[in-house]
Amino acid sequence: MRNKRLYLSLKEFLVEKFREKVKKIPLDAGLSCPNRDGTKGVGGCLYCDAKGSGTGLATHFSLSKQLKYFIEKFRCQGYNKFIAYFQSFSNTYAPKEKLEKIYGVIRDYPEIVGLAIGTRPDCLNLEIINLLKEFEKEGYHLWVELGLQSKHNETLKIINRGHSFEDFIEAYNILKNNTIETCIHLIFGLPGEDKEMMLDTVKTIAHLKPEGIKFHALYILEGSAIADLYHDGRVKELTLEEYAELVALSLSFLPPNTVIHRLTSDPPRTGLIAPGWLIDKNKVIQKIVNFMKEKELYQGKFYQ
Ligand code: SF4
Repeated sequence: MRNKRLYLSLKEFLVEKFREKVKKIPLDAGLSCPNRDGTKGVGGCLYCDAKGSGTGLATHFSLSKQLKYFIEKFRCQGYNKFIAYFQSFSNTYAPKEKLEKIYGVIRDYPEIVGLAIGTRPDCLNLEIINLLKEFEKEGYHLWVELGLQSKHNETLKIINRGHSFEDFIEAYNILKNNTIETCIHLIFGLPGEDKEMMLDTVKTIAHLKPEGIKFHALYILEGSAIADLYHDGRVKELTLEEYAELVALSLSFLPPNTVIHRLTSDPPRTGLIAPGWLIDKNKVIQKIVNFMKEKELYQGKFYQ
């Protein structure tokens, strides 16, 4: 046990791959989402805010300005290589020509070595897959970050995701069949879910063998639909201890080579209603690590 790696972090993976540390730049391309514009639904997922779970920077800054700003900022922290992460809203939800222009901005920045595209399972088709593959052929490391949150259709309904687990599987298979690396997003603490349901999602995902996974704790933001449910006492936040245990156990069920892109959420400081403990990211990570050490867990321990 002593020599076992607790988990394979994205940071570690990138250093192994690029021989130096690499920083992910969060970008807002000013796109929308079928679950907000009325195509699939209105109002979006219960926890989504007006920024589409992203930075909201597109309102004031072009993509080039965002890239320049972040590259300069992170260069001061010793980074020379970057991954362009299209984070806000659904970044494959536009015609191919528009997406080509949007993603193509990264070609002006030779220090960008990777492209990560955040999207929903119902916003992928072969035309877009082929476009993404073009960037991969040019040498960019490519990930599609696919939001699932839970495998339970009853939960997906409650949180107004506007797609089912089956939709997710369909999109996931398209990505797999086209050898595109996938990072799956999960949220713990969704309304109506207990520990067993959350771990059930993780075990199902483990068997799909995604290249990456991101863990989030549900948080309540002012202006999101879930804030009303929270104030009415119909949604309860997880405690730090509960969350740490869930993530630690989840890691033990995952294949050892799944890259852990994120162990905890990174909520905006302003507008966060709960849980307050999410603000101290290092403390959350330390709690997960401590739990793993205490229980002698490591990534892959129970993966079969
Ligand atoms: S899919 Fe993403 S952008 Fe769309 S409503 Fe849900 S959280 Fe917001």
